[in-house]
Amino acid sequence: MSRVFGPVPSRRLGFSLGVDLVPFKTCSLDCVYCQLGSAGKPVIRRGEYVPVGEVLEELEAKLKAGGRIDWITLSGSGEPTLHSGIGRLIPRIKEITRIPVAVLTNGTLLGLPGVREELAAADLVVPSLDAGTEEVFARINRPHRALSLEGLTSGIAALASGFPGRVWLEVMLLSGLNDSEAELEAIAGRIRRIRPDRVQLNTAVRPPAESGVTALSPGELERARHFLESRIDRVPVEIVAGFSGKRERANDRDLPGEIAGYLERRPATAADLSAVFGLDRREALRHLDQLKETGTIRETLSGGEKFFTAAPE
Ligand code: SF4
Repeated sequence: MSRVFGPVPSRRLGFSLGVDLVPFKTCSLDCVYCQLGSAGKPVIRRGEYVPVGEVLEELEAKLKAGGRIDWITLSGSGEPTLHSGIGRLIPRIKEITRIPVAVLTNGTLLGLPGVREELAAADLVVPSLDAGTEEVFARINRPHRALSLEGLTSGIAALASGFPGRVWLEVMLLSGLNDSEAELEAIAGRIRRIRPDRVQLNTAVRPPAESGVTALSPGELERARHFLESRIDRVPVEIVAGFSGKRERANDRDLPGEIAGYLERRPATAADLSAVFGLDRREALRHLDQLKETGTIRETLSGGEKFFTAAPE
């Protein structure tokens, strides 16, 4: 499987070239809202899951192919800091390109000073904090038993205090799970300790792995944003908005293969895929129909919208 995917339009980073450093759903958490499904046991053992040299070769080939890329983003289908070579990889990426590097992480390994040092060459780190209390952390993020919310908070705070780049903290809000005033108050307290450059509120707009996980409405999200901002001094709190950009179209592409590869990593609507792959809607639907016929993907409904995901093997 290819380790480099995109560039895809992302809500936060414009056109983002993704780098997937760990095998599917290799993660220290097992979040109820994860789009990758539940893999059962979270892991915290680090390893060189993919050789750094192979990732760099693939990345160089993608960069040579040209096209707009705003960020190189280490994320993908698991927790990227579980890759023990990330500290070698980031400086090597900076040697071959001036495109900034972002790391999207669940933050659970940031308590380790070595991991924080390994991320030092990145331009942006986006850790997650979805809970204010240990109880809600356990319920939403279902961590490896060695992890705690207190450890997560102090790890992110330690990163934010010494990191030369920017730290944007993502908070995933879920209806009935972490959107009560008491929980938001507790989350605000932890954000005050972390002092990120900004806070980004998200909700489960894409189909999560677990049924019963419900997104906040736009009005509820705005109320939560206002509440948090009123309790955190001088840290902007924003709602991560939808992306409406168009990507330039390349001619020589295996579009069904690329669409199937994209859907292995995240569910998407036909409109998302039109924007990602620079297709008009009819063409996107034609490819989706073919992929459905071959059993490669399937349809699912979430929040009244039709999403496409990779079919289970
Ligand atoms: S941290 Fe990300 S990859 Fe890991 S379980 Fe949570 S949502 Fe899924």
